[in-house]
Amino acid sequence: MTRPAALAYGGPANPETDMPAAEAAPPATAHLMRGADYRESLRRLKPMVYLDGRQVESVADEPALQPGINALAYSYDAAHDAALAPLMLARQSGRSLPVNRMLHIDESSGDLLNKLEAVRILCQETGCAQRYLAHDALGALAQVTATIDDARGGCEHRDRFQAYLQHVQDGDLALGIAMTDAKGERAKRPHEQSVRDSHVHIVERSARGIVVSGCKAIVTGAPYMHELLVMPGRALTEADADFAVCCAIPVDAPGLTLVTRPAGRPGEKPEHGAPLFSRRYGQATAVLILDRVFVPWERVFYAGAWEHSAVLTHSYATHHRHSCIAARAGFGDLLIGASALMCEANGLDPVVTSSLREPLVELIKITEGFYACGVAASVYATRDVHSGSFMPEPVYANIGKLLLATQIYDMHRLAHEVSGGLIVALPGPDEDHNPATAATLSEVLRANPAVPYDKRIEVARFIEDLTASYQGGWYSVISLHGGGSPAAMKQEIWRRYPVGDKVDLVERLLDRGVLAAESKAGEAGRAITRNRQPGRCCDAGCSAPGQALMVDLPAPRRRPRSAS
Ligand SMILES: Cc1cc2nc3c(=O)[nH]c(=O)nc-3n(C[C@H](O)[C@H](O)[C@H](O)COP(=O)(O)OP(=O)(O)OC[C@H]3O[C@@H](n4cnc5c(N)ncnc54)[C@H](O)[C@@H]3O)c2cc1C
Repeated sequence: MTRPAALAYGGPANPETDMPAAEAAPPATAHLMRGADYRESLRRLKPMVYLDGRQVESVADEPALQPGINALAYSYDAAHDAALAPLMLARQSGRSLPVNRMLHIDESSGDLLNKLEAVRILCQETGCAQRYLAHDALGALAQVTATIDDARGGCEHRDRFQAYLQHVQDGDLALGIAMTDAKGERAKRPHEQSVRDSHVHIVERSARGIVVSGCKAIVTGAPYMHELLVMPGRALTEADADFAVCCAIPVDAPGLTLVTRPAGRPGEKPEHGAPLFSRRYGQATAVLILDRVFVPWERVFYAGAWEHSAVLTHSYATHHRHSCIAARAGFGDLLIGASALMCEANGLDPVVTSSLREPLVELIKITEGFYACGVAASVYATRDVHSGSFMPEPVYANIGKLLLATQIYDMHRLAHEVSGGLIVALPGPDEDHNPATAATLSEVLRANPAVPYDKRIEVARFIEDLTASYQGGWYSVISLHGGGSPAAMKQEIWRRYPVGDKVDLVERLLDRGVLAAESKAGEAGRAITRNRQPGRCCDAGCSAPGQALMVDLPAPRRRPRSAS
């Protein structure tokens, strides 16, 4: 299954980016921070952050936020790793410097595939790298600002976004994405809510800028980001025009309060020789309370353009669901590896024990199954006519996200099935050093004679951490709801899938219009069966198959094709 380096599924649309793999990895330059620089950069910011009922003095030094900061720092260091740089860096057309791929606007199917691989690798290492949300939001902003300009004439919105993009790329910033409003009563629109602040909205406009208030309920990594992108979370009507606000604010903007919770499990007892994954890496989320936050016009991407919010939400959701696929595939890699190791530590070989091989194959099928949807969404990506950027094919992106959202529970079950009950029943780490019990435990709780006791319990605790702990529950919920609830994906799939084409197909085969409506009323009732979305590989911008696109994958990202 080895894919020749030159073979491809799509290609750079722009000659400036059309570089062979070796050149596609420019050396990291001074403007690209390392993890240590990123940590230091947080000291220059003074956000108002509350955590467990107290104010955080210094985010950079707050123990409860370290697992989240560690995950972001890894994304910075990875860009300086010679083996990973070809994936972690990208070349933006018109810019002379390489940029972090998490801040890159996709210019080809190849970019989308490379982003997919980059996110998968980052999440293999950290569980959830968090920084890819910035990529998804920047892609959406590129599209919506260009769409607004094309509708109104001029280039004001484009120019403002381009200036911001340059600011973000040059500063190598970490961006949090504040889209999900508190929302209030779900059945009502923003302007119908009794608490107006349940959605972020414009309260004042002046020659200098706008003033916004309201609440964003769930923002990943907010305390340890440099800036936050505030975006509407739903399509809006004219009556909701004040809620149609899209802007960037520094994390320490006056009037902004972040109420956060610890990232991962930083407070857990240090164990001895068996570091828990979520003590090292984790993710904080925060509720944002905006109380009359001033935003200068140069950081306002639109204000009041309610009719374009659907463009933004559709674009962000598509990019983000595409990224979520890669993120959870990275998590799947961890489960596959740990499950196989647990079988070995238990003294069973899946090669000969079919009752263990089957669940492992099931785990692989699930992980690579939804990942393949991400690959398909990249391959059949289309070029946005307004911005020129590339957009994953939405049906595949939504199907992939929907698959992982529900199958994450099966992934946990399969890891549990092959591992046995010890993953939640092992005595705690302190027992490993209890002179009264340690020697006996290490003797009687050993299984495979070739695997020392401490190695067996290390894997067992790793699986507990990822699947049967607070953090395990977190991974379930982020998979289910992050990027939108399953209902949102189903709606998109139904809306975008060309059901009408399939109706045509069957009608043609039947050679009689059995499904054709005779009357106008009947025609109106068939809106969905008349849906003829261009679908895959349309002639208006899809990448032609066969162009060079992907960089060679580095060693950590071994995939089926490189195993043969
Ligand atoms: C760990 C985590 C991290 C996240 N990070 C971010 C982030 O960084 N930035 C960000 O913006 N968002 C983030 N989210 C938010 C995520 O996008 C939302 O959780 C998701 O969109 C669902 O919204 P909700 O949580 O408000 O649930 P709700 O909207 O309350 O939905 C609950 C259920 O009700 C259904 N429902 C809701 N409204 C209606 C209606 N009107 N009619 C019928 N059914 C309805 C939904 O389909 C769902 O099944 C994150 C979420 C999680 C869990």
